[in-house]
Amino acid sequence: MLSVRTQNLGVIGWPVAHSLSPVMQNAALAAAGLHYSYIAMPVEPAALGQAAAGLKALGFRGFNVTIPHKVNIIEFLDEIDDDARMIGAVNTVLCEDGKLYGFNTDADGFLAPFDDFGDRGLENVTVLGAGGAAKAIFAALIKKKAGSVSVGVRDVTKGRAAVALFQKYVDIRAYDWQDEAFSDAISKAELIVNTTPLGMTPHTFDMPPVDFDIVRSDAIFYDIIYTPSRTKLLQEAERRGHLVVGGAGMLVGQGAAAFEIWTGRRADRIVMERALKAALMGRDA
Ligand code: NAP
Repeated sequence: MLSVRTQNLGVIGWPVAHSLSPVMQNAALAAAGLHYSYIAMPVEPAALGQAAAGLKALGFRGFNVTIPHKVNIIEFLDEIDDDARMIGAVNTVLCEDGKLYGFNTDADGFLAPFDDFGDRGLENVTVLGAGGAAKAIFAALIKKKAGSVSVGVRDVTKGRAAVALFQKYVDIRAYDWQDEAFSDAISKAELIVNTTPLGMTPHTFDMPPVDFDIVRSDAIFYDIIYTPSRTKLLQEAERRGHLVVGGAGMLVGQGAAAFEIWTGRRADRIVMERALKAALMGRDA
C-alpha cells in the first residue's frame, strides 16, 4: 500500500526480473493492510556491498537476497542467525537500528508443508542433489530430528564436501546415485526429496534416477521445483499412490517467514499461494 507512511522492501539478485517474491509479498502486504511496498532490484555482483549499505541508508525495512548473492552478502551484515550460519547463506535481511541482520528462511520454508503430513517419522531420508537449496534442507532435516540422511549426487567429491559441515549434527552421507549403497538407502527412505533442477521447465521430461520398484510404498516424494507444479518425478510417484509435495509450499513458506521478520505480523499464506499460482499460470509446461 502506497502512502506517506510507506516503508520499502525488496529483493536483490542478478538477474532478478524472474523473481516471484514481489507478487507474493505485495499480495500479503495488501491483504494485511500494511504500508509497505516490495520491489525487485537488479544488483551486479561487484556492487553488492554498495547495494547493502545503500538500502540501509535509504531506510529500507529489509530485503530478500537471491542468486548469486546469498553467500557473498554475509560479509556486509552485522549479524546472522543460526540457520544462516549452518547453511552458509542468507536469503532475508532486516535493517533495524542502523544494523543489518541476516536470516535464512529456506529451512523453515521447506518444513512448512510438513504441517499437512501429520506426525510421520523421519528415520531415513534421501535427498537428491547437494547444491545451495539442499543445504537449507539438510538444516531443516536436522531441526526435524531426522535419523539419517542419504544424499545422492552425480559428483561424489562435491557431494561429500557439501554434507561435511552437517555431519556433527546428523548422520548424513553422500553417495554416487548409481551406487548400490544408495539404492539400499532409497529403499528404506520415508521421505525422498529432489533438489536437482532435473524436470524443471523447459526440461519437463527429465527426472532424477529413482527406481520405483524398490522404494517403500508409503514413501513421500517432495520435489522443490515449482515450475512445473508437478514434475515428472511427482507425476510418476503420484501414479503409484505416493503422497507428493511440490515446491510452491516451500517458496511460500520462506516468503511468509521473511514477511513475519520484517512486519512482526503473520503472513496470509493462502493469499501468497494464490498470488504465486496466478503468476505461475502460463509458466507451467
Ligand atoms: P544448485 O546450487 O545449482 O544445485 C543443484 C544441484 O543439482 C547440485 O547438486 C547439482 O550437481 C545437481 N544437478 C544439477 N544438474 C544436474 C543434472 N543434470 N544431473 C544431476 N545432478 C544435477 O541449485 P539450487 O539453488 O540448489 O536449486 C536447485 C533447484 O531447486 C532448482 O530447480 C530451483 O528452482 C529449486 N529451488 C526451489 C526452491 C523453493 O523454494 N521451492 C528454493 C530454492 C531452489 P553438481 O554440483 O554436480 O552440478
